[in-house]
Amino acid sequence: MGFSQKIKTFLDKVLDIVFPSNFKCILCNRDLPQDDMIFCEECMKENIFNDGNRCFTCDTQIKEGNIVCDHCKKEKRYFKKCVCPLNYEKLVRKAVLKFKSDNAKYLTKPFAKLIYQRLNEEKIDFDLIVPVPSHAKTIKKRGYNPAKLLADELAVLTHKPCIEVLTKTVLTENQKNLDYKHRQENLKDSITLAVDKSIIKNKKVLLVDDVITTCATINICASLLNSAKEVYACAVARNQLRD
Ligand SMILES: [Zn+2]
Ligand SMILES: [Zn+2]
Repeated sequence: MGFSQKIKTFLDKVLDIVFPSNFKCILCNRDLPQDDMIFCEECMKENIFNDGNRCFTCDTQIKEGNIVCDHCKKEKRYFKKCVCPLNYEKLVRKAVLKFKSDNAKYLTKPFAKLIYQRLNEEKIDFDLIVPVPSHAKTIKKRGYNPAKLLADELAVLTHKPCIEVLTKTVLTENQKNLDYKHRQENLKDSITLAVDKSIIKNKKVLLVDDVITTCATINICASLLNSAKEVYACAVARNQLRD
C-alpha cells in the first residue's frame, strides 16, 4: 500500500467515525450494499411488510377473498382509505417504538419514504397533510411528535403543505382502567380542531400517524375533519387484527 493509499484509508476510517455510513439496515444495523436500500436481505425475510390480502379501508391483513375487515364493517370509518407499509410486529415494532420514544429521529426519512412509495402505488391524491397531534406535555417529554416528523418529511417528498390542523388538549396516556367505550369517549374529547374549518373545507386531507393499532385515534381525528372533501390516513406500520 502506497503512502497516499494509506492516507486515504486512514481518512476513510476517520470519516466513518465522524460521519457513520447511512447505508445500514434500519432494523438490524447490518451494512447495506446500496444507499437506496432500507432493509437488509435477512430482515426482508422476516415478514416485515404489510402485504397480502388487506382490508380496503384500514389496511389490516384479512382472509383471502374478503374486502374489508369485521371492524370496518361494524364501525363507521371517517377516512376513506389507510395505507401502512410495514407489519407492526417484532423487528418493525421495535424500530417504531424506538422512533416514538427513544429520540430515533434518523428513522424519519426511511419511514416517510416507505409511506410515500405506498401512497404512490395506491395513487392516493391529497391537497394537504395533517399530523395526528400529541399533547404538549408528551412532546416536552419526548422532545418531538413523531407523527409531525413524518408529516413534515412527506410534505418535502410530495410538495404538499403540512398543517397542524388538530391539537391534543387533554392527556389520555393512562386509560388502562377504562373500558373500550369510555376510552373512545375520553379520546374524542381530548382532540380538537386548532384552526378555522375553512382551511380544510373541500380539501383532500392526508392524516399521518406513526402506527395504527385499533384505528380509534385516526378515526376520531378523521371525524373532526368532516368539512374536508376526503380524508385518507397513513402510518409507518399496521398491527394485525386477525379476524
Ligand atoms: Zn436488517
Ligand atoms: Zn378494516
